[in-house]
Amino acid sequence: MVESKKTGVIGWPISHSRSPLIHGYWLKTYNIPGSYEAIALAPEKAELFFKDFAKGDYIGANITIPHKVAVIPHLDVMEEAAKAIGAVNTIWVEDGKLHGTNTDWLGFLGNLDAGCAGWDKTAKTALVLGAGGAARGIIYALIQRGFQQIHVANRTIARAQEMQTHFGSAVLPHALEDADKLVGECDLIVNTTSLGMEKNPPLTLSLETIRPHCLVTDIVYTPLETPLLRRAKDKGVKTVDGLGMLLHQAAPGFERWFGVYPTVDDELRQLILKDMGQAQ
Ligand code: NAP
Repeated sequence: MVESKKTGVIGWPISHSRSPLIHGYWLKTYNIPGSYEAIALAPEKAELFFKDFAKGDYIGANITIPHKVAVIPHLDVMEEAAKAIGAVNTIWVEDGKLHGTNTDWLGFLGNLDAGCAGWDKTAKTALVLGAGGAARGIIYALIQRGFQQIHVANRTIARAQEMQTHFGSAVLPHALEDADKLVGECDLIVNTTSLGMEKNPPLTLSLETIRPHCLVTDIVYTPLETPLLRRAKDKGVKTVDGLGMLLHQAAPGFERWFGVYPTVDDELRQLILKDMGQAQ
């Protein structure tokens, strides 16, 4: 009998997660006998669950809010990227040991590489709006791609300053209201705040001085075209939406568990958009 490998996404709450749809699509596409479930894990049960994970039925999992940091003490091996980012979103069992990594930064880069090939060839200066959990992975990604100046503008400036303490002098912290002044010197602008998300107010960043080659991306993907992306398009600059980040961050985990690096194709994108009620 062919062995069916069990995986899933662990979070609380978890019913909103689109990861089962993504991995389910790939399992079907590649005809792999395996499963990927939504695993609801209450915070008070996390300690015991992760302690025994390597002895259980699952070969690995994605980890989401609120467990991305809580899982760390239970890992036997933690990859460099996860150490640098300080959070884990992918785990797997190897020779009885629990391994963990972070693939959010790969998702961010994979999305830009797919949406705007060569975007980083001459790019050196970025403006990152926001300094929350997602911003950490993105700053790490930009450092990996050789960015020399990463302006981080955040409502709570102390959190932007923490990014400089953590990642070093390439990171330049600012208050969010000072971001307008930085637009004209950037090759890349990334929104990582929750502004612009459905039901939230839009991000009010002036694009008056934007350079013609500047790429604008928003990791918020509900709506797919955020007010920031729409204004950037109106200015005639290139944009990449945030849905691909979600899809591309999932691929390395799938490969780790099932041995196939899956393709992020348009059919998958349409499947998720349909689920979001935004089919195109
Ligand atoms: P987080 O850790 O809670 O950080 C939220 C960020 O938004 C912080 O910088 C926060 O500033 C800022 N913010 C929130 N409300 C604000 C307001 N009213 N005015 C100004 N700034 C505000 O969240 P996260 O995990 O980084 O996620 C951020 C967004 O990215 C969410 O919308 C999430 O859905 C999206 N996301 C997308 C992907 C993807 O795959 N595309 C992946 C991860 C996250 P303060 O520090 O001042 O509070």
